[in-house]
Amino acid sequence: MKNTKDDFQYHQITVVVRMRPLNQVEIEEGVQCITYKLGEQMLLLKDPNEDSDDAWKANHSRQRTFIFDAVMEQYASQDCVYESTTKSLLEGIVSGYNATVFAYGPTGTGKTYTMLGMDGEPGIFIRTLTDLFRTIQEISDNMEYSVSMSYLEIYNELIRDLLNPSSGFLDLREDSKGNVQIAGITEFFTHNAEEAMVLLRKGNRHRTQEPTAANKTSSRSHAVLQVTVKHRSKANNVHDEVRVGKLFMVDLAGSERAAQTQNRGQRMKEGAHINRSLLALGNCITALSERGGGHAHHVNYRDSKLTRLLKDALGGNSRTVMIVHISPAATAFEESRTTLIYASRAK
Ligand code: ADP
Ligand code: MG
Repeated sequence: MKNTKDDFQYHQITVVVRMRPLNQVEIEEGVQCITYKLGEQMLLLKDPNEDSDDAWKANHSRQRTFIFDAVMEQYASQDCVYESTTKSLLEGIVSGYNATVFAYGPTGTGKTYTMLGMDGEPGIFIRTLTDLFRTIQEISDNMEYSVSMSYLEIYNELIRDLLNPSSGFLDLREDSKGNVQIAGITEFFTHNAEEAMVLLRKGNRHRTQEPTAANKTSSRSHAVLQVTVKHRSKANNVHDEVRVGKLFMVDLAGSERAAQTQNRGQRMKEGAHINRSLLALGNCITALSERGGGHAHHVNYRDSKLTRLLKDALGGNSRTVMIVHISPAATAFEESRTTLIYASRAK
């Protein structure tokens, strides 16, 4: 994944898979590992119910290899994941392009670990902010930059400001130029990574549930960190336009239900138990990747809060990175299989 200007056209959607290691309980219970990284881009998912080569030979095997832009091994470091997914987006952001990074996958596979991380193992949110300020410092000789951030949660199609939770539920609006805005959201200007981290920590305390607790509520909400970078020439020429680059980093709701209900080309079907935003996102990404292949598919951003919010940062000149998370455990075979099949469609 090089980062030249030309790649903005050709590498619109990047899909990277990360598998977490077996956890302590799985190890103690003797759960088998069924995922194998076969190269930089290839992953093998074994069917734990299949014995030996028989089924494979008979062509009945559900064992399957998948190809993505990159496959991260189980013990890949947080830094390695950041470097292969998000780091290369910064150059575009500080030049006025938009981008979105998603953590996708079933509950318990490591989405929050990847995006937020934990003490001593910071995730993509913090690494990106740190690098962003460093990048700006390096290039800001004749440019003036400002960085602001907002942090919100979408739960049951309701938007909450995590940096100002007392403001209640917020509405999405479109201005006369078609720019999407969240009415009343707080946007904090930050001057360094430390300030940004204080805000992030504050916001995390206000998530519907503690983000690291594996419980039903947190697994159904999306946490969206939006970073806006504005710049213009220091020459102080009033005619100089201000350029704006936006980066959305999203810890998505658990995909366990959405992945099973969605088939290629199928229109979104709303069910009380299915996450509307996640389904709409899947439809948008599928439409965008098919469009990349030369077909003019209509992209339906209007179907959910999440896709409306991300409208300017999906498709067009924007870059999208999807980090697909799976468990390596034999007990998660069906779930991993549907997740990987779903993710293959984004390419
Ligand atoms: P999700 O957000 O997808 O529901 P979490 O990020 O909460 O999943 O991860 C579930 C558990 O697995 C957490 O205890 C987390 O610390 C651990 N975990 C996830 N990914 C990794 C990893 N790559 N290395 C080590 N531990 C991980
Ligand atoms: Mg989580």
